[in-house]
Amino acid sequence: MKVVKFGGSSLASGAQFNKVANIILSDSKRKIVVVSAPGKRYADDIKTTDLLIALARTIIEGGEKEKALESVIQRFADIVSNLTLDKTLLMNIDRDLRGLISQYENDVPRLMDALMASGENQNAKLMAAYLTKRGQEATYVSPGEAGMVVTDDPGNARILPESYEKLRNLKQTSGILVIPGFFGVSKQGHIVTFPRGGSDISGSIVAAGVEAEVYENFTDVDSVYSVNPQLVDAPKEMREISYREMRELAYSGFSVFHDEALQPVVTKKIPVCVKNTNHPEAEGTRIVAERSQNGCPVVGIASDKGFLSINITKYLMNREVGFGRHLLEILEDECISFEHTPSGIDNMSIILRDHQLRNGKEERILERIRTELKVEDIQVERNLALVMVVGEGMCRTVGIASKATEALAEAGVNIKMINQGSSEVSMMFGVDAQQADLAVRSLYYKYFAPVNQI
Ligand code: ASP
Repeated sequence: MKVVKFGGSSLASGAQFNKVANIILSDSKRKIVVVSAPGKRYADDIKTTDLLIALARTIIEGGEKEKALESVIQRFADIVSNLTLDKTLLMNIDRDLRGLISQYENDVPRLMDALMASGENQNAKLMAAYLTKRGQEATYVSPGEAGMVVTDDPGNARILPESYEKLRNLKQTSGILVIPGFFGVSKQGHIVTFPRGGSDISGSIVAAGVEAEVYENFTDVDSVYSVNPQLVDAPKEMREISYREMRELAYSGFSVFHDEALQPVVTKKIPVCVKNTNHPEAEGTRIVAERSQNGCPVVGIASDKGFLSINITKYLMNREVGFGRHLLEILEDECISFEHTPSGIDNMSIILRDHQLRNGKEERILERIRTELKVEDIQVERNLALVMVVGEGMCRTVGIASKATEALAEAGVNIKMINQGSSEVSMMFGVDAQQADLAVRSLYYKYFAPVNQI
């Protein structure tokens, strides 16, 4: 059995629904389908999820909701009319949305989650209806019925382990099952969404639950590329990468696959295949537990912006028992997670995503570090980008780091920080955010196409 997930652009219009149905029907193993909400039809279109967020905000701010509601319904109406589906489907969407609004009107986080989830929820119903129209036995299954039990943390759901037992029963059902992605149901009975882009996570959970032979993730690119295709012409396509490599790349800016989506399939060693709905003949990229070593130690270069570094100096820090624990406890008290902690004998840096330091948190943390840890110096370095060189083969290859520093030096990029974890799957460089794209391009050409194309 294969679990197939289709992203928003794959389901943005009636024409896209048609392509998706052709893909599903071309392989009888494609028994479980997980769908996103209708995404963008053209570059400056608005995703249905964003229209739903705008609707929720209008209601929260006490504005006139009809116009915002109408734009959401119009997205579904276009699909229904293009595929000549039964009009009652549309009436039900209107009824369901109004029902959720009156149920959660005074509960801001719940209203937001319930409305956001409606994009995938209603799209799954339309897809089940369309497959039925095409002569297939197809059933819509809600995440609650499927057994997706999640934590009760609006916008940030996590799957609870007991879900997998229940999801296994999906193997027994006949026909094609269509399950909406992006949300589950908490023990308290609420709709709770995963972080944005979370339909990838849903697909992965379902694939792990039914122990699928493969989790196919259909999107709008032929494969995962070795570098952001907006930064270089004709970047190298990756045929096969390991879970660990994908995790590093997804973490550092590759948006083709959600960085939380690997965890469920990794334990069961289910391969993931990223494919293109608009070009299904293309081979795609397989993400597997162990990849065959093809002689290329580096598989990809990525970067992500929006980081800052808190740089702390204190003489004899290395001898002070409990310094690191106390420092991290200060962050924990403010519910802040950190990304990296490069350190020297008398200094330590904490790299964080900068959005975490809003609402007075920065001042409170810095004050506590100064007074409680009695440090000599503390500086905040902003506008940091992290650039990652990723590849399982790096640990066996001499000279990877020297190539990287050479490339960055030639491009005039100042390296502010270097970090390499013990796993040696990646090497991280902290650079000024303005130089991030230049850094990525220079590294890409150094490893993949040694020519002067920066
Ligand atoms: N529709 C949701 C979003 O736009 C989830 C997803 O597409 O995966 O974030």
